[in-house]
Amino acid sequence: MNPALDRRWLHAVLAELAQESARSADTHLLRLDLPAFPGIRFYFKDEAAHPTGSLKHRLARSLYLYALCNGRLRADQGVIDASSGSTAISEAWFARLLGMHFTAVMPDCTAPGKVRLIRSLGANCVLVPNGLDASAVAHERAASEGLCYLDQFGLAERATDWRGNNNIAESIIDQMALGADAAPAWIVCGAGTGGTSATIGRYLRYRRLDTRTCVAEPSGGAFAVGWQCRDRASVARAPTLVEGIGRPRVEPGFLFEVVDRVEEVDDAQSIAAAWRLESLFGRRYGGSSGTNLVACLRLAREMRQTGAQGSLVSLLCDRGDRYDETLFDRAWLAGQGIDLDAGLAAVSALETE
Ligand SMILES: *Cc1c(COP(=O)(O)O)cnc(C)c1O
Repeated sequence: MNPALDRRWLHAVLAELAQESARSADTHLLRLDLPAFPGIRFYFKDEAAHPTGSLKHRLARSLYLYALCNGRLRADQGVIDASSGSTAISEAWFARLLGMHFTAVMPDCTAPGKVRLIRSLGANCVLVPNGLDASAVAHERAASEGLCYLDQFGLAERATDWRGNNNIAESIIDQMALGADAAPAWIVCGAGTGGTSATIGRYLRYRRLDTRTCVAEPSGGAFAVGWQCRDRASVARAPTLVEGIGRPRVEPGFLFEVVDRVEEVDDAQSIAAAWRLESLFGRRYGGSSGTNLVACLRLAREMRQTGAQGSLVSLLCDRGDRYDETLFDRAWLAGQGIDLDAGLAAVSALETE
């Protein structure tokens, strides 16, 4: 294509992304009071409210912008990425908006609801056996087929404007600014690409806030293992059923230095907590939101024990209806060896005692 036409195409695509951003509203910060924790207020940022149902809406927008502004994504080029599903849904949605063809490379154990959604957005899904490196497959296919590799795991932490531009941390801090909780005690999030925890940890320092960052991680996940000994070569000690977090290896976007604490949560408790979130908020959220709730309850118990007052902020990362056939299906859970009732009892004990 000639350079002038290429430039016209670039401007049109960037204008479309700017308009999409202008049409979108910010996500709600929902307050929750739990009777067992007087004087401690919980806030949950509802990232499921994005048009594509998860916090990956922010990331997908940033990854397309980053690829376009770096001259890596050209007219007539298809795009590809590796994902556990949420990112692929958001990337497929943006591809359709921008008139591009998208290919998602995902583990074959990804929730079927996500795969259906990606295909209905007109994208191609390549399912690789669980345990195989989906990022390597996506990278190879990008090279052999001339596609643009969006590379969420490699670029999430760089593509996000950590100092502002309404990133998730700035949005939370602005939404808290008017109240007594302007500086929460903790912000709790998961780590998949590590982009969210990196953005939050950096932004809190930048704004000179005393708020600390806690990563809620499936037990034995690579972030937890690596963070303890600050070893980037660490690998996970156990797999997880919670999609989006609990990575098998230390991803390039995991920044250990800006994370103050890591809470490891068993899958049964994460999943039970996702069920609990449905009764607290009246709608379903995914497993990683449950992991966050468990970490929040543990931190709140410590605050209660030491007589500390204040607030905790966490994220509702994605919509739970994607997991109707998995995490919210008792028979499926039993088949995976998850004791849901034990998990529910453990979560309820965290909320009371
Ligand atoms: C990606 C993801 C996370 C973790 O966010 P990162 O910014 O990638 O670390 C948590 N929950 C869900 C459902 C996700 O898709």
